[in-house]
Amino acid sequence: MADAYTRFVRSTPGAMIAKRTGLPRPARLLRREDRPEPVLGPVVVLGDSVGADQIAQLLLSWGADVRRRFEELRRVGSVVAVLDEVDAPDQLGPVLLPLAGAMRTLAPGARVVTISRPATGQDPARDAARGGIEGFTRSLAHEMRAGGTANGILAADGVALDAPGVIGALRFLLSARSAFVTGQFLEVTTAAGTLTEDTAQPLAGRIALVTGAARGIGAAIARTLAADGAHLVVLDVPAAGTELSRLANELRAVPIQLDVTSDGAGERLVQFLREHSLTLDVLVLNAGITRDKLFANMTPDRWDPVIGVNITSQITLTNALIDAGDVLGKQPRVVSLASTSGIAGNRGQTNYATSKAGVMAFVDALSSRLAEQGGTANAVAPGFIETEMTARMPAINREVARRVNSLQQGGLPVDVAEAIGFLSSAEAGGIQGQTLRVCGQNIVGR
Ligand code: NAD
Repeated sequence: MADAYTRFVRSTPGAMIAKRTGLPRPARLLRREDRPEPVLGPVVVLGDSVGADQIAQLLLSWGADVRRRFEELRRVGSVVAVLDEVDAPDQLGPVLLPLAGAMRTLAPGARVVTISRPATGQDPARDAARGGIEGFTRSLAHEMRAGGTANGILAADGVALDAPGVIGALRFLLSARSAFVTGQFLEVTTAAGTLTEDTAQPLAGRIALVTGAARGIGAAIARTLAADGAHLVVLDVPAAGTELSRLANELRAVPIQLDVTSDGAGERLVQFLREHSLTLDVLVLNAGITRDKLFANMTPDRWDPVIGVNITSQITLTNALIDAGDVLGKQPRVVSLASTSGIAGNRGQTNYATSKAGVMAFVDALSSRLAEQGGTANAVAPGFIETEMTARMPAINREVARRVNSLQQGGLPVDVAEAIGFLSSAEAGGIQGQTLRVCGQNIVGR
């Protein structure tokens, strides 16, 4: 349900007032139930490289209405600009400028995706072009209207554009699952991963554990992963036992009541999984708390629990699961919850930002450890998401936090869950150690 301000500016008198006074008018974002088709068509593929042809073929195989030029199109659903072979900044204009004239034809909820290669520090002119694409895409995201998004895929040199990670990232960014992801880049560093045959159930047959699952973002993650076909193990503190068993009944999931900061939590989890003969393919480290205070007033009773729940527990749980040797599947996916506060810092959140910046560095290091067994570790950094946690913010701060992003609204727990669903999939095997922001391009940080 939209917040009170958004409901007002969507009413007839509210819309008139907002239009006259220039107040933000957040668009209704289309999510998977609103727009189930994988690609909003017609989709225009820009670029003349071999990679561009490959991408056009791929989109055709998904049943999309694919064009190579805007021509006389009155309405465009999606644009994929393939820039994998650019060597200098002056090669960008010829590929990108045709989109300028078509911007006003973009449909509500349109998708623009650039596909390019990351700078490598080896060729100044080529890196200037490659770096320029990031600036272009992030700026375009600020200019998209009506819930449209613009994001980029960076395929490392040597990773072909038909690698599972590139295809998976494109599938995610073109779909309605990425409704609150804009102005972001996903880097595909290897050709690892496998293509999903059943795209409606990409997690079919996989077992996923979500911590902090009783409510909020955790409950949405559990529901989304279950809808994607996974069997769920849902974990939360004993005090949330009632909500947890309700969710477990709904999803036919296995509940486990455990405080992730309690002594021996990792060993108890391992024992529980062994007793239930469960090997985890997906581990979502979502449990998190805030205890905000200016640092001048910071005390151990606010600092320690935040560090304990938000990062130390993630380290002890993953260590215990990896060390056990028999409770993780062959190509495990670990996805952890960071925050935009951990990227940009936030007044009153030194403890929280410490923990969340820690999460981002943690997944980066963990990904190297898991790569040996074909596993991955990544993080998702939500911006402002409508949950009980953010409902407790002072009203004015909450209202400001909702508007300071390109989509001018708070995200929903399901938006975070969808990103986690993608990073948990077999296709995302080439995406390692990254933090994907789900923040509507919040103005903080990059
Ligand atoms: P929430 O408070 O609504 O839910 C958190 C869940 O974690 C609760 O069910 C809680 O019982 C559980 N939990 C807390 N401590 C635990 C412990 N010691 N052991 C086991 N479970 C525990 O929070 P949310 O808004 O859904 O946030 C979920 C995650 O997303 C957190 O890591 C949070 O930091 C992160 N996040 C949220 C937002 C936002 O806008 N809501 C933004 C950025 C990041």
